[in-house]
Amino acid sequence: MDGRLRANASQRTPTRAFSSLGRRLVLATLLFCLIFTLTMVTWRTWLAWESNLAEMNSELALIDQVFQNTLAHAIWEMDRESLNQQITSVASAAPVGRVVLNILRPGQLPEVIELNRYPAGQSSDAPVLHRQLVAQPYAGAHEKVGELIIEGDNQLLWERLWGEARSIVITQVIQSLLLAGLVMTMFNRLVTVHVVHIAHHLGQLAPHTLSRHLKLQRAAYRQDELSLLESQVNELQDNLNAHLARQHSDELALAASRDQLAELVEARTAELKAANQSLEALSRHDALTGLANRRYFDELKEIEFRRAIRHKTPLAVLMCDVDFFKIYNDTYGHIQGDECLKQIAETLRSVFGRSGEVTARIGGEEFVVVLPNVDAEQAYEAAQRVRASLAERELPHSGSQISPFVTLSIGVAELDPDAMDHFDQLLQRADQALYRAKHQGRNRVAR
Ligand code: GH3
Ligand code: MG
Ligand code: MG
Repeated sequence: MDGRLRANASQRTPTRAFSSLGRRLVLATLLFCLIFTLTMVTWRTWLAWESNLAEMNSELALIDQVFQNTLAHAIWEMDRESLNQQITSVASAAPVGRVVLNILRPGQLPEVIELNRYPAGQSSDAPVLHRQLVAQPYAGAHEKVGELIIEGDNQLLWERLWGEARSIVITQVIQSLLLAGLVMTMFNRLVTVHVVHIAHHLGQLAPHTLSRHLKLQRAAYRQDELSLLESQVNELQDNLNAHLARQHSDELALAASRDQLAELVEARTAELKAANQSLEALSRHDALTGLANRRYFDELKEIEFRRAIRHKTPLAVLMCDVDFFKIYNDTYGHIQGDECLKQIAETLRSVFGRSGEVTARIGGEEFVVVLPNVDAEQAYEAAQRVRASLAERELPHSGSQISPFVTLSIGVAELDPDAMDHFDQLLQRADQALYRAKHQGRNRVAR
């Protein structure tokens, strides 16, 4: 199990280069900050441009306010020295790039005085102020004496703009870097450290360490996605642990019942063997009397027959039948009839106990005895012994017409090797002898 867990873990290990979530987050933040900075710089620079233009405009208006009356007066008075002084003052004011003064005199061509801070002919984005100069020679009189054109200092305008744009860019970049740093630090402290800890914890998991819970190194009161993950991991471990414990106990129970089952099978096999043995015995013996049954008799008779032929030894057969047995049954009942058959079987057993002698019950109240190495004479004597032995038992038979006790008629036959090549021929002879015994009056032996 341990090995399996580890094998699975190694299968899941990514094969591509490791890339930290925090780094990706910082890169994304920096990209966002770059786009944001560019947008902000553009917008704020445009705003700065607008405000610089407005500022320069108001500076030019101030200069215009200061000089328009004195200039108009100097033109009216034709005070060239004052005029030059004032124009020079205007041109040297900081926000001014170019000054043009058109002097209008009735009946004369307009005179143009132009002062340039920079070589003429350069295009300019700076604002331009046009002022009609009007003189008041006396109260209520207005004379247009010229036109003043003040153009802003283009270079100054751009210098101011660049200065501001620089500071805008610097502040935006610093802001972005600080933001990215903050995000990186916060993400590392809040997430990355714990995710690495969880991965390490999961990597160490094995069946015997399942009871060791995941414990994140942070304040216990925090309730967020990480604490949810922590509790879910611990719950999963507990469930897995309980499952493994259950599986272990099930395996033990299974092993125990397997052993029990094996013992049971062993016991049943022994019983079955014993049952088979007794079944085999039963199938060879008659259930009522315990003598050999017809089947077993058929097996044995051939063996004895062939042996007698082979060894040229005598072989005799006794065929016994109970006299008036139907009447016996009618008189005493079938159960008593069975008892009687058992007694007769006992009698036969007591007479024929030698090895090789086979006593069998081959029909309802018919018995056969096979006697190897016994000739007809000896067989006849043996049959008489049977009758005598039965007579001694004095089994009452009130229905018998020939005796107050149960009697037997017995036919005896001997093997004639020249005339017989089957045991059944011998048996038939014995049967014929039995028939004769019956006809001669029963309770006797015939051959
Ligand atoms: P017989 O002297 O001519 O032999 O007269 P019998 O009545 O013995 O002759 P039969 O063969 O007609 O009758 C045989 C009877 O044996 C019939 C049947 O009721 C009885 N019998 C056969 N098998 C059994 C058995 O297993 N148990 C009992 N109780 N009676 C049986
Ligand atoms: Mg019969
Ligand atoms: Mg009979």
